[in-house]
Amino acid sequence: MKKEKFDPASRIQDCLQFGEFGDVNPSVTDSATFTFLHGKDMTGTFTGEVQGCFLYSRHWNPSNKYLADALAAMEGTEAAWVTSSGMAAITCAMLQLVKSGDHIVASPTVYGGTFAFLKNYLPKFNIDVTFVDTTDVKKVEKAIRKNTRFVYTETMSNPMLRIADIPALAAVAHKHKAKLVVDNTFTPMIFSPARLGADVVVYSMTKFINGKNDCVAGAICGSADYINSLIDVNNGTAMLLGPVLDPFRSSSILKNLHTLHIRMQKHSENALYLAKRFKEIGLKANYPGQPSHPDHALMKKQMNAGYGFGGMIAIDLETAEKANFMMETMQKQGVGYLAVSLGYFKTLFSNSGKSTSSEIPEEFQKGMGLSEGLVRFSVGLDQDIERTFQLIKESLELTNKHFAGKKTAAPKPAAKKPAVKKVAAAKKPAAKKTARRK
Ligand code: PLP
Repeated sequence: MKKEKFDPASRIQDCLQFGEFGDVNPSVTDSATFTFLHGKDMTGTFTGEVQGCFLYSRHWNPSNKYLADALAAMEGTEAAWVTSSGMAAITCAMLQLVKSGDHIVASPTVYGGTFAFLKNYLPKFNIDVTFVDTTDVKKVEKAIRKNTRFVYTETMSNPMLRIADIPALAAVAHKHKAKLVVDNTFTPMIFSPARLGADVVVYSMTKFINGKNDCVAGAICGSADYINSLIDVNNGTAMLLGPVLDPFRSSSILKNLHTLHIRMQKHSENALYLAKRFKEIGLKANYPGQPSHPDHALMKKQMNAGYGFGGMIAIDLETAEKANFMMETMQKQGVGYLAVSLGYFKTLFSNSGKSTSSEIPEEFQKGMGLSEGLVRFSVGLDQDIERTFQLIKESLELTNKHFAGKKTAAPKPAAKKPAVKKVAAAKKPAAKKTARRK
């Protein structure tokens, strides 16, 4: 496949969006409803005959529209829509495409919440789901039925970091008159799934797109017809289920979107560095930027130039007990935080099988090769990544020593890192009491 050069960052840079007084950042629309000079314009706005008017904030809101337009530019889609969470984006995007009696083909290696929705929730509405490994396109085609409405996959799977062949999946789905829906949360800018043939692209903007871990948000990108169907006042899931994003959040996410390209480059640079250094010390790491990764070549074929292979990396410590000890040690050493989620400026790590993928039953976890000792890292924007590597190495040595039977007490943070010790210590009790998997 010959890929035309597409640069998401330049697309965002070219978005010229101003406030009403020439403000360089568009004004935040702090209103739930909007006035009309003429009654017939209000009626026309309801029916869709009058364009360019805002009616009510759950429906359309100027701040949300600025962000949605910038996201559509980034993805190269005709339109986009923003939602109050990634799960709201995923569930609305799916529900808009199916009705009772329909069928979906989906990857089981998806975010745990997505898996639970497909496996436990949709069957309540007589919607059938077949889970197949979407890295095997032949299996996907075999699973497609006459009533299959869409194929669902993540571009880079969670947490195994396998890569989907988007053009091949799109071709198979389209051949059977089904759509391809892709979650691109792990790899914004790196992949442009719609440019590769996907019909709908969904995001948890909570992650890399926003990058600040200060809010939960989502997005759906697709054709103008599809986005209009989502917000149809009579039938649109995004309109009727009401997962509206607060305009203040849209405004802050939009500003963060303008630095996404630099952040993705740094996340990728740091993750690649760690993958190389892990290999040098004999630690098996799963990172698609390494030539030994099964999908390295496939990723290179599909990715946009200049953003690297992403900020996610996983190591296997074999048992959940060892993974927990290692993560606690890394937190004390100041590597980052033992927390779910990703795309933050600090390094986050979690034991996927026991947290974000815990909704996925054990037999599926085993089938996808998800070990109970897998530790997933979302690598932060650390300036000195060699220093971070040394802290991880020390943590690993302490972990190995502990499990070699020489019972080492969990390490005390080094005196030279008091700030880290304070933050981690202050956070821990509250986190212990309240932390639940997302
Ligand atoms: N998609 C992926 C790949 C995720 O990792 C997550 C959350 O971790 C979601 C979707 C759900 O997003 P949110 O938590 O914003 O609802």
